Amino acid sequence: MHELSLVQDILDTAVSYAREAGSQKVVAVFLRLGALRDVKKEWIQYYFNFIRKGTMAEEAEILVTVNPIICSCHECGREFEIDLDRIHDEEIACPGCSAKNYTLISGTEFRIEGIEVV
Ligand SMILES: [Zn+2]
Repeated sequence: MHELSLVQDILDTAVSYAREAGSQKVVAVFLRLGALRDVKKEWIQYYFNFIRKGTMAEEAEILVTVNPIICSCHECGREFEIDLDRIHDEEIACPGCSAKNYTLISGTEFRIEGIEVV
C-alpha cells in the first residue's frame, strides 16, 4: 500500500517534530500534494486518521492542498494548466502560441509545509 507508507512517514515526521519541540501533541499537519502524484487526498486523510491513534498526533488533522498541473511554454513563456485527464494527450499545446515545447513546473509536489503543535 503506497499511500500507507507515505502517510506513515508524514506521521513519524510530525511526531518527531513535536517531541523535539517539547510539545504535548500535534494539532495539524499541512501537506502540499501535486495533482500528478498518484495519491488521492481522501486516502491520505483516511490513512492518517487510522494510524494516528495512540500517537501524539491522535487529534491532529491533516490538511492537504492539491497543486494543479502547470506547464511553462519554452516559446512564449506562458504558463498554463493541464487537466489530469489530458496529461497523456500528445496533442496538448501551449494555448498562447500552440507550441508543444514546454516544461512541467508544478504538479509533482509532495511535502509537509507545516506542523502545528501545542
Ligand atoms: Zn507558448
